[in-house]
Amino acid sequence: MNKKLFNTFLIKYAEIGIKGNNRYLFEDALVSHIAAAMKTLPGHYNVRKTPGRIYLECENSKDGGVYDYDKVVNALTHIFGIVHICPVVVTEDEGQEKLREKVVDYWRSMYGDDYSCTFKVFCRRGRKNYPLNSMEVDADLGEAMLDAFPNLKVDVRTPDKFVNVEIRDHIYIYTENIDGPGGMPVGTGGKGMLLLSGGIDSPVAGYMVSKRGVSIDAVYFNAPPYTSERAKQKVIDLARIISAYTGPINLHIINFTDIQLAIYEKCPHDELTIIMRRFMMRIAEHLAYENSCHGLITGESLGQVASQTFSSLVSTNEVCTLPVLRPLIAFDKQDIVEISEKIGTYETSILPYEDCCTIFVAKHPVTNPSVHVIRKHETNLDDVIEGLLAKAYETDEVIHIG
Ligand code: ATP
Ligand code: MG
Repeated sequence: MNKKLFNTFLIKYAEIGIKGNNRYLFEDALVSHIAAAMKTLPGHYNVRKTPGRIYLECENSKDGGVYDYDKVVNALTHIFGIVHICPVVVTEDEGQEKLREKVVDYWRSMYGDDYSCTFKVFCRRGRKNYPLNSMEVDADLGEAMLDAFPNLKVDVRTPDKFVNVEIRDHIYIYTENIDGPGGMPVGTGGKGMLLLSGGIDSPVAGYMVSKRGVSIDAVYFNAPPYTSERAKQKVIDLARIISAYTGPINLHIINFTDIQLAIYEKCPHDELTIIMRRFMMRIAEHLAYENSCHGLITGESLGQVASQTFSSLVSTNEVCTLPVLRPLIAFDKQDIVEISEKIGTYETSILPYEDCCTIFVAKHPVTNPSVHVIRKHETNLDDVIEGLLAKAYETDEVIHIG
C-alpha cells in the first residue's frame, strides 16, 4: 500500500444516510466535526459535500504545515458517524482508454506487479453521459487488469479486493476501506450528563452514548481529604481521553464530603452506598436541568456490585425524573474492559487511586433494599440536607475539556 498516492479521502456514512428530510442536519454535523478535527492537524484541508458523498481534500499548508496521511486517518477514526474511510485517487475523464491506464497504474503503485489475489472491478456512474455503462466499464477495466498482472484472478462473489471506480464530477479510484467508528455524529442526539468516576465503566458508558450522537457533560463527586488530588486528576484525564470521541466536555467537580459524612453519621451503615448513590443522582439531575441535558448516563451494570442489583437500581432510579441511560447494564465486565482498552481509557482507569465510593463502604451492604425503608432512613437527614446540598452546588468547579 502506497500512502503517498492519496490526498483525498472518501468518507462513507451509513445510518445517517437514511434519515429522510433530516439527512442534511446529520451530514452538516459530520462535515463540521471533520473540519474541526482537521484544524488540529498540520496541513490545509477542505471538506467537500456532494449528494450522498463527503470528500476530505488534504494538502500542505502555505505556512509549511505538512499533511500526514496517518494523522488524518487516526483523526477520522475518532469521528462518530463515519463508517468507512476510503483513500481515493481523483482523476479527470480523459476517455476509457486513459482510464484503463490509470487503473493499472494505480494498482501497480499500490500493490506492485506480482501481488497475488482475487479482485472485481466495481463501477458506479453518478452521471449517465459516460459512453459506457457500468457493466461495460467493469468488463473493460477487468480485462486491462488481467492483461497487466498475471497473478490476479477475477472473483465476482467474494473478491479479496474491490477495485472501485466512481464516475462522477471527477473519476475516483479506490481499493482500501478503513473502518470508522460508526454511530451518529455527536450533537445530533441531544446532550447527557455523565456521572464520571475514576473507574473502568463510566468512561465506557459515556463513549457508548456519545456514539449515538449525544454530546456529553460530566460530573465527578470528589471527597477531599478522603480522596486525593490525584484521584481527581485521573477523572480529568479520563474525560480528556473520551473527549477525542465525544467532543468538548464540561466537567463539573462537586465536593461531596459533607454529604457523605452526614450520611455516615445519621443513616444505617449497610445502606450507605445506596443513599449516597441517591444523592449523587439528585445532584447530577439538578446539574442536568441547569445545563440543558436530556438525561443522565451512568456506568452501572446489573449485578456487578451490591448497589447495582435490580432492586438497588429501583432505589437509585426513583429519585430521578429524567431518563437514566445505562448502556452497560447487560454487559459482562470483560466486554467492558475490551471497549475501554480499545478507546484508550483502561490504563488510566486501573490506576489505584481511591474513589469516594470505596472510602465509606459497609462490610455487608444491603443487596435487596426496600425503597420504603431507604426513604424512611433518609429522613434522618431532613434537618441538614438542604443546607448541605446548597453548599455542594456552591463548590461546583467546571473544567472545560477538549
Ligand atoms: P465505575 O467503574 O464507572 O466507577 P463501578 O463499577 O465502580 O463503576 P459504582 O462505584 O457502583 O460502580 O458506580 C456506579 C456508577 O455511579 C458509576 O459507573 C458512575 O456512573 C457513578 N459514580 C460512582 N461514583 C462516582 C463518583 N465519585 N463521581 C461520579 N459518578 C460516580
Ligand atoms: Mg467506581
